[in-house]
Amino acid sequence: MTPSATPLPAGTPLPAGTPLPPRTPLAAKPLREHLAAGLRSFSFEFFPPKTDAGERTLWAAIRRIEALTPTFVSVTYGAGGSSRDRTVEVTRRIAAETTLRPVAHLTAVGHSVAELRHIIGQYADAGIRDVLALRGDPPGDPKGQWTPHPDGLTHAHELVTLVRELGAFTVGVAAFPERHPRSPSWTEDVRHFVAKCRAGADYAITQMFFDADDYLRLRDRLAAAGCDTPIIPEIMPATDFRQIRRFAELTDARFPPTLTQQLEAAKNHPATAHRIGVDHATTMSARLLAEGAPGLHYITLNKSTATLEIHQNLNPTQR
Ligand code: FAD
Repeated sequence: MTPSATPLPAGTPLPAGTPLPPRTPLAAKPLREHLAAGLRSFSFEFFPPKTDAGERTLWAAIRRIEALTPTFVSVTYGAGGSSRDRTVEVTRRIAAETTLRPVAHLTAVGHSVAELRHIIGQYADAGIRDVLALRGDPPGDPKGQWTPHPDGLTHAHELVTLVRELGAFTVGVAAFPERHPRSPSWTEDVRHFVAKCRAGADYAITQMFFDADDYLRLRDRLAAAGCDTPIIPEIMPATDFRQIRRFAELTDARFPPTLTQQLEAAKNHPATAHRIGVDHATTMSARLLAEGAPGLHYITLNKSTATLEIHQNLNPTQR
């Protein structure tokens, strides 16, 4: 037995340089309890990179964001193939090598229930206790007809049930401030969202949006339906007009005309566009917090600059 392995009496200061045991998400209060206690959540979303250079950029961003001690970080789930393995790997590494709490996105696209069980088992093995349960979109054409896997799941509420059955996970779901693009009416959209909460969702993260009123109206609709599940707004800093327009087309997110005009005028001036996007996201974030949003979830696109600036701009007393 090495001297450092000898148990020390409780309270004995550790000798300088003693490596600390890694902090795992298990050591933290479960996200469900954090949100249920009315505590605010600050979080950041990453995606699994395709290249070694992308991997380095991601890890540089993760390390900078780790210093902010966010409530959690999430990793998106790819549309298919190897990007899905990379989601599992990145999420596993965050759990093993950082002090962050990783939330694993998981979709039902192209998976049988047996495969979904296997992936959830892989997360459990890696000490991951947080899953964002999503239906996903048809591969190749996000706006196309949704066809479930013959041995799979049809809607997100079934995935919520499956994840909850398989362990003590905290489960998040998606919410849509401008209504899910395929929902025929608000009544249907709210009804199906409430079904996800009744199935065991602990919280939701919204689709990106650019007008705080859309979030507040959704929250009012859900409250009127008797649903008090915490809904965390997702913020996408609109710092690159072309990229944002592409995302907005994919998600059907509405862009306020003034912001569109400002960004269009600055489309050949990246520094100005960056400032416009950061200012807009800061103003929206401050308003959402003032209106009682349970937290903020930032899309980082694996970079940290804009999100760090917004974080610094927000009055620390609001955090
Ligand atoms: P559902 O809740 O199943 O809803 C999909 C549609 O079906 C809605 O119109 C809903 O009203 C309707 N519906 C639900 N239940 C029923 C029912 N019982 N009967 C009839 N209709 C019903 N996609 C990815 O591929 N990877 C990701 O990592 C990812 N991350 C995301 C993160 C966030 C925060 C958000 C908001 C979205 C994310 N998405 C991701 C996109 C998401 O998968 C799509 O938006 C998808 O179209 C909807 O998923 P959902 O979980 O809301 O599905």
